[in-house]
Amino acid sequence: CIESTFVSSVGSYVDRFEKELAAYTGSKHVVAVVNGTSALHIALKLAGVKINDEVLVPSLSFVATANAVSYCGAKPHFVDSNENTLGLNPDALKEWLKQVAEPSQGVIRNRHTGRRIHALVPMHTFGHPCEMDEIQKVVRDFRLELVEDAAESLGSFYHGHHTGTLGKLGILSFNGNKIVTTGGGGAIMTNDSEMARHAKHLTTTAKLPHRWEYLHDEVGFNY
Ligand SMILES: *Cc1c(COP(=O)(O)O)cnc(C)c1O
Repeated sequence: CIESTFVSSVGSYVDRFEKELAAYTGSKHVVAVVNGTSALHIALKLAGVKINDEVLVPSLSFVATANAVSYCGAKPHFVDSNENTLGLNPDALKEWLKQVAEPSQGVIRNRHTGRRIHALVPMHTFGHPCEMDEIQKVVRDFRLELVEDAAESLGSFYHGHHTGTLGKLGILSFNGNKIVTTGGGGAIMTNDSEMARHAKHLTTTAKLPHRWEYLHDEVGFNY
C-alpha cells in the first residue's frame, strides 16, 4: 500500500477492502469511510432522515448511534432493549408505536411531538443479532426506514444473512475495539447501486470528476 503511494482516501487497497467486504457480507456494495460514526451519519442521510425527524434507536448502544441521528438535526428516541439478545425489543417497539404513531399525509407522526418518525436503527450488541424478523415486521407495518448498526457484528449472520445487510442500509466499524480493526475505519453497506454511488460521492466531498477543476455539486464530507 505504501509503495503504491495511495495511502489515504483512494487507491487499489481501498477498492480491494470494499470488494472483499462485499464478498464476505453478501452486500452488493460497500463504501469504506473513516469510522463507524461517519458511516452511520451518511447512512441516515441516505435513508432520508431530515431535520426534526425522530429516529428510533436502542437504549443500549454506544453513543455513536444517537450522535449520528443528532448530526442530521433529528431526535434520537430510545426504545427498550431485550435481555436475551441485548438488542432492540420488538414488542416494546410495537407497543410504543401503537400508542404514539399517527399516519398523516403519507408519513407517520408522533402524536405527542408532531414530529415525523422516519427511521429505526437496531444494533447487534457484541455480535448478537437482534430479533430481525419481528423488527422487520414492525418496520413494514409502520413504514419506517431500516438502518442497521452492525458496528459490533462483523461475522454475525441472521438466518444466513450478514448483519447490516437486512435493511436498505447498514454500517460496520473498524475501530480499535472492534472485531477487525484498521486503526480507525468504517463502512456503509447497501444493495442499492444508486445509494452506493451517492454514498461514495457524499463521503468524498461531492466532487464532480474532472481532471483539474474542483466542482462540488452538494455539501459533501471528507469521510
Ligand atoms: C463502535 C461503534 C460505533 C462507531 O464506530 P466508530 O468507528 O468508533 O466511530 C457505532 N455504533 C456502535 C454500536 C459501536 O459499537
